[in-house]
Amino acid sequence: MEDETVTTARDGPGDGREADAVERRGDDTVVEKQALHEGGTDDGAVAPEAPGETAADERAEISNFEVVNHYFNLAAERLGIRDDVAAVLRSAYREVQVQIPVTRTDGRIHVYTGYRVQHNGARGPYKGGVRFHPDVDLDEVRALASLMTWKTAIAAIPFGGAKGGVNCPANELEDGEKERVARSFLNKVDKVLGPTRDIPAPDVNTDAQVMAWMMDEYGKLHGHTPAIVTGKPISLEGSYGREAATGRGVVYMYREAAGTLGMRPSETTFAVQGFGNVGSWAARIMQELGAKLVAASDAHGGTRSDAGIDAEALAAHVREGGRVPDFADGEEISPVELLETECDVLIPAALGGMIHKSNADRLACRVIVEGANSPTTPAADQILEDKGVFVIPDVMANAGGVVVSYFEWAQNLQHFRWEEREVNDKLGRIMRRAYREVARRAEDDEVPLRVAAYEVGIERVAEAARTRGYIS
Ligand code: NAD
Repeated sequence: MEDETVTTARDGPGDGREADAVERRGDDTVVEKQALHEGGTDDGAVAPEAPGETAADERAEISNFEVVNHYFNLAAERLGIRDDVAAVLRSAYREVQVQIPVTRTDGRIHVYTGYRVQHNGARGPYKGGVRFHPDVDLDEVRALASLMTWKTAIAAIPFGGAKGGVNCPANELEDGEKERVARSFLNKVDKVLGPTRDIPAPDVNTDAQVMAWMMDEYGKLHGHTPAIVTGKPISLEGSYGREAATGRGVVYMYREAAGTLGMRPSETTFAVQGFGNVGSWAARIMQELGAKLVAASDAHGGTRSDAGIDAEALAAHVREGGRVPDFADGEEISPVELLETECDVLIPAALGGMIHKSNADRLACRVIVEGANSPTTPAADQILEDKGVFVIPDVMANAGGVVVSYFEWAQNLQHFRWEEREVNDKLGRIMRRAYREVARRAEDDEVPLRVAAYEVGIERVAEAARTRGYIS
């Protein structure tokens, strides 16, 4: 395909791209820049619709790429991984960049850029979502692909890591325009995809409908192949339980931790930053356990009630188009107040970089379960550790989505459907096992869960790559 650029095995963070956002000291500590976003971008969810809707100073200006590589480097060094091997594991196997020309309703052709980064396939076919967002760029997609490699390894599911994206203004696109972007993207990256090669899934601003279009487009080229994407609608061989899976996995992780922390889920108070797919499902499932939601937020602001917010009612309010701060049964609060809410558990489920060195000290929770990708910067992580806040990191905590994507793929390959209860039970078993394996490692090595999780993930990927003969 003439408009496709394929680059292989780049040298990852050694290319200097991160230099303007962080300084790296000799000990490889990432020093965050003081500058903070206003309104700004996201790495994980819907962007604020208008300036001023998101409070200033919410996010640290450190990229996902820097965060993921910071933890990779830390764990690789602790594991004594050779430099040359670390360079292979850190960098992406294949990076595809394509042109997406779309005729929009204004009659003009708009040209967007699409990316598919396949980070590491040692443990199985590449797996990862496709994001439609104006801020998508190669660095972000590369970082999220790397995170997927470690996440699938920690969950011990037989996939590698990938991610994709198109830098289109998703919130402005009409359905027909979005469909043309999805079909064009699939067509352009088709050569590197396949149910045994690389299986996309939804991510920010892509949903079951977008997956249906992609499956249809792939089918035109190769015949009906439901296993080419996951996160499909139930009517097209999607899996029961997929929509709630990430939030449910977050709750399973907390339930495991609670036992060892002397906390009871039924007596837990919690707050959710980002009441979208992950946040609202996590809240509803926490509530089923008897926990009390005391504060929640979205891109417009937050709501709080010490008496408790009914998570089901708030989810219904949002489903009907309501904004979280307008919820009738709560008192409106600012995004900063949300973070400072006294509670047992905080679930960040919005954007990357929301907990940073300027606000970490003000958090008033005992436990953080990271639903979002990279919500906590390395400097904030250190502050939280010093404060004694127990952090269950993204790379294990939000793996529930890809685990149920694995179930969907397995069901599709057999053209067989599991009941929702079976899906949730299997998800629970995998999340519990992942938690216990990482927690044991953390205890043995006397390190936080995040470091232990990366150690476990890197070891598994390195072993697979070595056994295949890809590295020595
Ligand atoms: P979503 O778009 O459904 O929800 C995001 C929510 O965050 C929305 O309610 C939005 O209003 C809110 N938000 C945006 N800016 C905010 C701000 N400044 N302050 C507070 N809230 C804000 O997205 P999602 O699928 O729930 O994803 C959320 C996060 O979870 C992302 O980081 C994503 O990468 C991560 N994640 C999602 C999945 C999944 O299966 N959906 C899996 C793993 C990780």
